[in-house]
Amino acid sequence: MQELPKRSDLPVEQTWDLTPLYKTGAAWEKDFKKLRALVRDFNQYKGKLSDPQMLYEAFRASDKLSLAVEKLYTFAHLRSDEDTGNSENRARVDRISALSSEIGGETAWFEPELSALPEEQFKALLKAPVLKFYRRTLKEIGRDRKHTLSEAEERVLELSGDAFQTPEKTFSALNDADLVFPMIKDEKGKDIRLSHGNYIKMLESENRTVRHDAFKGIYSVYSMFKNTFASLMDAEVRNHVVDAKMRHYKSALCSSLSEDNIPESVYRSLISAVHENLEPLYEYFAFRAEKLGLKKLDMYDIHCPLVPNAARNVPWDEAVSMVKNALAPLGEEYVSVLDKAFRERWMDIPECKGKRSGAYSGGCYGKPPYLLLNHSGNLDSVFTLAHELGHSLHSYFSDRSNDYHYAGYKIFVAEVASTTNEILLQHYLLSKAETQAEKAYLVNYLIDTFRGTLYRQTMFAEFELMMHEHSAEGIPLTAEHLSNEYYKLNALYHGDAVEPDQDIRYEWARIPHFHYDFYVYKYATGISAAAALAQKILAGDTDGYFRFLKAGDSKDVIDIMKDAGVDFTTPEPINQALKLFADQVKQLKKLM
Ligand SMILES: [Zn+2]
Repeated sequence: MQELPKRSDLPVEQTWDLTPLYKTGAAWEKDFKKLRALVRDFNQYKGKLSDPQMLYEAFRASDKLSLAVEKLYTFAHLRSDEDTGNSENRARVDRISALSSEIGGETAWFEPELSALPEEQFKALLKAPVLKFYRRTLKEIGRDRKHTLSEAEERVLELSGDAFQTPEKTFSALNDADLVFPMIKDEKGKDIRLSHGNYIKMLESENRTVRHDAFKGIYSVYSMFKNTFASLMDAEVRNHVVDAKMRHYKSALCSSLSEDNIPESVYRSLISAVHENLEPLYEYFAFRAEKLGLKKLDMYDIHCPLVPNAARNVPWDEAVSMVKNALAPLGEEYVSVLDKAFRERWMDIPECKGKRSGAYSGGCYGKPPYLLLNHSGNLDSVFTLAHELGHSLHSYFSDRSNDYHYAGYKIFVAEVASTTNEILLQHYLLSKAETQAEKAYLVNYLIDTFRGTLYRQTMFAEFELMMHEHSAEGIPLTAEHLSNEYYKLNALYHGDAVEPDQDIRYEWARIPHFHYDFYVYKYATGISAAAALAQKILAGDTDGYFRFLKAGDSKDVIDIMKDAGVDFTTPEPINQALKLFADQVKQLKKLM
């Protein structure tokens, strides 16, 4: 194996330029020292928020403080990710993280103070001309006010807040630290200890014995601790249910969705639209079984490659031109920002010793939206480039079109631009592909993405909803109950071509997202929005898409998507995405 280059040996044009953030470590130190004064500036408004002018100034001071923290943090973590072994860089991250959580505590009075204002005073603030710009934020706080309890009740909840965290904390201590998985043999007969990190890789093995042993190995451990995991899950879900009840929400689901002002029907119609479109997924599994030469698939036959990786090496320059051509349908404005991204060194491209693995997009308001890559030169890494550029350009347009206060977009829309870019890239590469094998690889790429993101996450969303509804009805979430329900759902989402191993019933125990309170459905709606938008873009209509890119957090997410032409109050976007999946399955069958 070739040794990775040292950071200092990388050509400078392949690395990111962080000087727009800070030219030197000393400049960072200088800003770091100023943070305390910014906290004092903000805290002088404590107790004065009923005065519109004071509240206005408090908002300004709060934004100024959080932007300063964000900038310090961004520089610290980007620099540290370049070389995770560098202790000076690591220390900077630790210092800003510690200080910022301290600041969080010292400034936490703001929303509770607003929430505690008498109704007439709060209404007066909503009408105050000086606060016009902040009206959207005030309305959001106003929505919460209806669910704010008396001061004494809130005090009790605050004091017991830590205890409510116990199920998730214990889950992660057990899952990440205490569990020990068995040894299995890999393809070469070498002994390997199973871990969270290598499990999926093992499931992707072309050797069925390796896949089988990995699957059985992992779940032998989860089944051993199933009662502990179930008790934690039961407590977690009960926390959500009780909190929603105390705060007078109709249900835990409504409580969670109210954060982004999303109607309950969006969640439910996602599930019913997917139910009505399971046929193409069954068809895909049947085809997969046939291609793998199996009578029936088992749960460990779903991740191994159906189409060998188009073993094509894509040098960086070619990757750049592929992505630029693929995104050209977005128009000149978009492409000119892409050029800027490459020219002004927004990205850190090659792998090197000590660099953080994977890829991400990250930055702070008004500065370049940086990309960390580990470009390995296969086709997957071209998709990664397109994906991360989607995030970065979304941030770029949102930042430039909004004041800092409303620039940061919500999680609900966070994966839309990145997935849109992937779909556009797949479309472009497919039109240029010369061999059947390459075409099959590309079609399969999109199928896998949609299967994992749209179908699988909706199955998770359905399981999550079931847990909360059952818990609200007083049904205890025992290991047996959870496992039986989970197994039933798996059977539904896999069809006749799959005969699931009984051990899949314990998968719920392995998924951290089930502790996140109605989070996963956003993956499914995100990819559906992307599918709908990509189709509009390819048909020559980019106006709606730009409205979306520039919206930031200026409106509720459902309205932002509506403005872009994607209406989640109807099942239309989900149906469109499912149709795209069905078309790809048909194509794959033809190609192979
Ligand atoms: Zn992403």
